[in-house]
Amino acid sequence: MAMRQFLSPAQRVGYTLSIIFILLLVLGFAATIPYIWESKSLWYKTGIDKTLLQLGKVCGLFAAVLFFLQIILAQRLSFLDRIFGLDRIYNLHRLNGFLILGLAVLHASLVVLPEGLDNLPIGWKFWPEMLGAALVVMLAFFIVTAYFRRKILAYHLWRKAHRPIGYLLLIILTIHIFNVSDSFEGGVPLIALWALIVLVLLITIVAKIYTAKTTIKRIPVQSRRIVGDDIVSLRLSTPSGFNYAPGQFAFLQLHGHNISPEIHPFTIASAPGGPGADDSNLEFFIKRCGDWTNNIETDENLQASLQAPFGLFSYGARPLPPMLIFIGGGIGITPLLSMLRQLRTEKQSVPLMLIWSLAHKRDMFLGEELNDLREQLPNLQTHIFYTREEGGSRIDRERLGILLQDVPLESHFYLCGPEQMMSRIRHDLQQLKFTSKTIFFEQFSL
Ligand SMILES: Cc1cc2nc3c(=O)[nH]c(=O)nc-3n(C[C@H](O)[C@H](O)[C@H](O)COP(=O)(O)OP(=O)(O)OC[C@H]3O[C@@H](n4cnc5c(N)ncnc54)[C@H](O)[C@@H]3O)c2cc1C
Repeated sequence: MAMRQFLSPAQRVGYTLSIIFILLLVLGFAATIPYIWESKSLWYKTGIDKTLLQLGKVCGLFAAVLFFLQIILAQRLSFLDRIFGLDRIYNLHRLNGFLILGLAVLHASLVVLPEGLDNLPIGWKFWPEMLGAALVVMLAFFIVTAYFRRKILAYHLWRKAHRPIGYLLLIILTIHIFNVSDSFEGGVPLIALWALIVLVLLITIVAKIYTAKTTIKRIPVQSRRIVGDDIVSLRLSTPSGFNYAPGQFAFLQLHGHNISPEIHPFTIASAPGGPGADDSNLEFFIKRCGDWTNNIETDENLQASLQAPFGLFSYGARPLPPMLIFIGGGIGITPLLSMLRQLRTEKQSVPLMLIWSLAHKRDMFLGEELNDLREQLPNLQTHIFYTREEGGSRIDRERLGILLQDVPLESHFYLCGPEQMMSRIRHDLQQLKFTSKTIFFEQFSL
């Protein structure tokens, strides 16, 4: 199988700059609307009142543009994944949510301020303003619940509600814009608003069609076995024409009697291989840790649907450095394993180090495979830590310092594990003089 090619770092920078430029252009244009296409509400205002009202309108328009952007960021667009990586897009989506809320609150405050609290726009005549106020409250509730989702709801229930509510809020926002300001009654602002609506609608529809067309549907699960204490290995035969790079992940949906057809992200732990390699299977290692993953092993005759591949957490995404260091915690080994398997196939001579932390000895589910890797990759050093065994230890700065003392500073680090462990190790690596530019990490939560 041919390995999936990434965009080069220079191409990614080029596309990033172009996207930022287009966004700034749209925001810049939006900022001119209250000044060039003044609404009647501004005619009777002067001095500071006029300035505040204009600024308030600019904030509102920025919030609206970013809301439209938010819909695009939520689409799992393959081309954005190739530029930024889907995990970063989701982080941006979260950050953008707070930005929209901040701008919406600022907009509401600044447009009310010049009128004074005695003249709040209340009553049927002011329904567009009241709709806007209700939108700010709904937005605040929506964004705060999204932030605390892990504490409030099961992920799949939260996700089912999040999308339709998001679209509903966008419709309310559009009604508010069309009716609240006469700047949008005609001319350039009206055309620009329609252009934005049509563009976002088109991107959403094309993304849905693309996802439906490229999802690989209902391939039989070839083998399903329990490895280690609580990990299920699933093997699927590689669909024809499918390619991926080591370290990438898939959205996996299983079809069986006892399992709900939710879509969950999992790393493809196998390696794409190369000419002559045995790449007939896609392998997943799934840790049973929640209501969905706990159901996998009980079902016979499983089938799987796949939307893939995604992610930039791969040594293939950048030029090879003088040394590659993989640091994993628990099930976070899966993307690192995929990369090591691929490096074995490629017979790469770049020096490699694997540092893997597990809680107990019984959690080790790759003993034989690690022996094979060590045999076939003479340039690989492995260090296994058991944190909860007697005499065991964690990967701390002191131990890292000893392990990494001869490692060149330009080496690349790939980290995957629990969030706390990763942020501690990133901090430790920086204390040891490795720069953040050389540290790549993947979180197992989107
Ligand atoms: C890029 C990536 C790669 C991953 N690779 C692996 C892997 O190789 N092996 C492995 O065991 N686990 C992997 N995970 C984690 C795995 O997706 C979750 O453990 C699994 O979805 C939990 O499902 P659950 O319903 O059993 O648990 P729950 O208790 O319902 O969920 C636990 C947490 O998992 C996350 N989660 C649940 N469902 C989804 C979903 N549909 N989309 C995104 N996040 C979700 C949420 O953060 C949630 O809070 C990966 C996650 C990501 C983001």
